[in-house]
Amino acid sequence: MGQSMKAAVLHGPRDIRIETYLRPELQPGMVLLRNRKVGICGSDLHYYEHGYCAAFVPDRPFVLGHELTAEVVSVADEVDTVKIGERVTVNPARACGFCDYCKAGRGNLCRRTIVIGSASTTPPTNGAIAEFVLVRSDQCHILPVELDDSLGAMTEPLAVALHAVKRAGVVSGKRALVTGAGTIGLLVALVAKAFGAIPVVVSDIVPVRRSKASELGADAALDPASADLADQVRALAGDGFDFIFEASGSPRALRGAFDLVRPGGTIVQIGTMGTGDTPLPANLIMNKEINLIGSMRYGNVFDEAIRLVAMRRINLRPLINGEFSLDDAAKAFEFATDKTQSFKVQIQL
Ligand SMILES: [Zn+2]
Ligand SMILES: [Zn+2]
Repeated sequence: MGQSMKAAVLHGPRDIRIETYLRPELQPGMVLLRNRKVGICGSDLHYYEHGYCAAFVPDRPFVLGHELTAEVVSVADEVDTVKIGERVTVNPARACGFCDYCKAGRGNLCRRTIVIGSASTTPPTNGAIAEFVLVRSDQCHILPVELDDSLGAMTEPLAVALHAVKRAGVVSGKRALVTGAGTIGLLVALVAKAFGAIPVVVSDIVPVRRSKASELGADAALDPASADLADQVRALAGDGFDFIFEASGSPRALRGAFDLVRPGGTIVQIGTMGTGDTPLPANLIMNKEINLIGSMRYGNVFDEAIRLVAMRRINLRPLINGEFSLDDAAKAFEFATDKTQSFKVQIQL
């Protein structure tokens, strides 16, 4: 009989229970972490609200959470990249390391990837809203002192944004629009700005999210429902934006992007849409020569994301606005579902 731990276990829609769970046991190549701070992600909220996330349907209760700061408590014998006591953040996606995609440096496309706190595999893989989590040694990224536990747990969503901007290409001096001012959209705006895009414009239907975008330094925050949107865009970007980052997961926002992108421009899809297919204006794509590209999780950008924060190129602090204990995990999720007031909600272990 192994040791036990406390965990927040998702049993179904809006049903999170604090339970005594089997503590994971160290295996070859792996590292056991004691979690310190864990953020709640949009995908965690999908599981919480619906019991599943897009095509990922868990076949049994499991532990959510993949945005974390943790302390190394034990390492397998052959592991020499992290030591006991070190403070780390984690790339939640464990690619196989051996397939064509992994060897080409595109491990985020690896079909054998296992993600903690996710039902992308069957059975689902337990995440970090628990006292302990088990990861492979190469998933750990050591945190410098400049990143406290809260900032460290923001590395994963920042990596999503960083990967998306890198997928777009060189944004320096270009006009950028981000549709959707949730955490990922706001982080994309921060990265685009740090990389020299000008102006960086954000759009969202929720007023408090537009204010947050302005507070974070967006050059303008637009209401996509306003009657004079086209005039506002013309004033900011002339013929349209060179880059549009679709981070809302709304089919309407994506459709609008084809009108707001300038000829020869690029649309990057980051948001997750509903399960059905989304119609696209193929003739516009053709006659404006629009590039439409996808961005899936992250490449190998975690250490770069950490440097951006440590060197103060990006300030993540204003995005964090809720902290709860593990015992209050259900309350934390309930608060996080309220998009009119919550941005990044974290759980303190
Ligand atoms: Zn996430
Ligand atoms: Zn692979």
